[in-house]
Amino acid sequence: MKGPSSEQLAFDSQHIWHPYSSMINPPAMFPVESAAGVRLRLSDGRELIDGMASWWSAVHGYNHPRLNAAAKAQIDDVSHVMFGGLTHTPAIELARMLVDMTPAPLERVFIADSGSVSVEVALKMAIQYWHAKGKPGKHRMLSIRNGYHGDTFGAMSVCDPVNGMHELFSGVLAQQLFAPRPETSFDSTFNPEDIAELEQMLVQHQDELAALILEPVVQGAGGMRFYSPEWLRQARELCDRYEVLLIADEIATGFGRSGELFACNHAGISPDILCLGKALTGGYMTLAATLATADIAQTISSGGAGCFMHGPTFMGNPLACAVALESLKLLQEMDWQTEVQRVESGLKKGLEPARELASVEDVRVLGAIGVIERKQPVNLAEVQPMFVERGVWVRPFGKLIYVMPAYIMTDEDLATLTHAMVDVVRALD
Ligand code: PMP
Repeated sequence: MKGPSSEQLAFDSQHIWHPYSSMINPPAMFPVESAAGVRLRLSDGRELIDGMASWWSAVHGYNHPRLNAAAKAQIDDVSHVMFGGLTHTPAIELARMLVDMTPAPLERVFIADSGSVSVEVALKMAIQYWHAKGKPGKHRMLSIRNGYHGDTFGAMSVCDPVNGMHELFSGVLAQQLFAPRPETSFDSTFNPEDIAELEQMLVQHQDELAALILEPVVQGAGGMRFYSPEWLRQARELCDRYEVLLIADEIATGFGRSGELFACNHAGISPDILCLGKALTGGYMTLAATLATADIAQTISSGGAGCFMHGPTFMGNPLACAVALESLKLLQEMDWQTEVQRVESGLKKGLEPARELASVEDVRVLGAIGVIERKQPVNLAEVQPMFVERGVWVRPFGKLIYVMPAYIMTDEDLATLTHAMVDVVRALD
């Protein structure tokens, strides 16, 4: 593939919205010509070591021969058919694999088109579940401050009200409830006070709550925080006690990223509903899944509607399912846990020097996630080229300079990546 011409780049800046971007003087984009392994090749020939894995997703690296082959083979059979009334092997085998990999009670699979849609599906499942049980008043959600669950309306309603800019959409978003974020960090001794307010809210609102939705152990886009698995374990118990479903959003954390196959495994718990996405296809294309227990599926199906009310056009897309299936096979065949631990060690070692810098608030690493939190937000337009000049692709937001590389990144590339991160933060000091 050739990179875009200057005319095409001018068209891009005048006509195309990029994520969270302004169309008044948009910053220059870096045109990518190709990508392989952990390297992005820009059209001017420069190669960047990619720290972002395309926002948590490209866990095996780019242009993987096995994933390429899976996509090509599936194209020659069928790229897409509607999922209403029809089925196919890629969807069946992918669902089988997901049922096998996830904690035991999760066994009914809704294959959705994107992470945000899988969250919408999860919220709707929880609402339909209580409706079918004759409790239609249980339709609100309880969420956790600093959470992030996607950009569609239902998902936005459960994102952190401040980070999620709820005031922009006030009067439009469903009015949900927000418990304080867990303060006990991943390795700290759990303080029972930390979960007291969550319990109070469950006691007070149990008659109107359908579900508690949270990102287990790792809060991603809402602050890149790692919290105590014990908090999660107790949240699970409280949900059972007060008859509120637990929805775990593992769209970012799923498939090994936090050092366990699923972040829920750190706490040894299983949610009632689980959302997966991002790394599901190894970053090749959009696909997500919402898994639920048999009880939830049967209850919904025995309700007034007689079915679950959702069915997108591209549901179960065979091409995406075939690539996802191959990506999960790759994950099972590799010793992913050892590789993630190796990446974790490289990130810890490489980011440690940032701790001494005056502008740095905290440095933290869990699994293949590395974060430098500054005291002040960075100016993205200023820092983005600084990373590119150092041969790496890192895209900070707010105060956070963070990476979640492919699990295949070598120790040498990890050293270059982390060195560039510390160097940029030092230059801003
Ligand atoms: N939940 C979490 C935890 C996420 O990190 C994201 C994506 N950043 C989403 C949901 C939304 O997924 P998508 O961007 O595929 O809609």
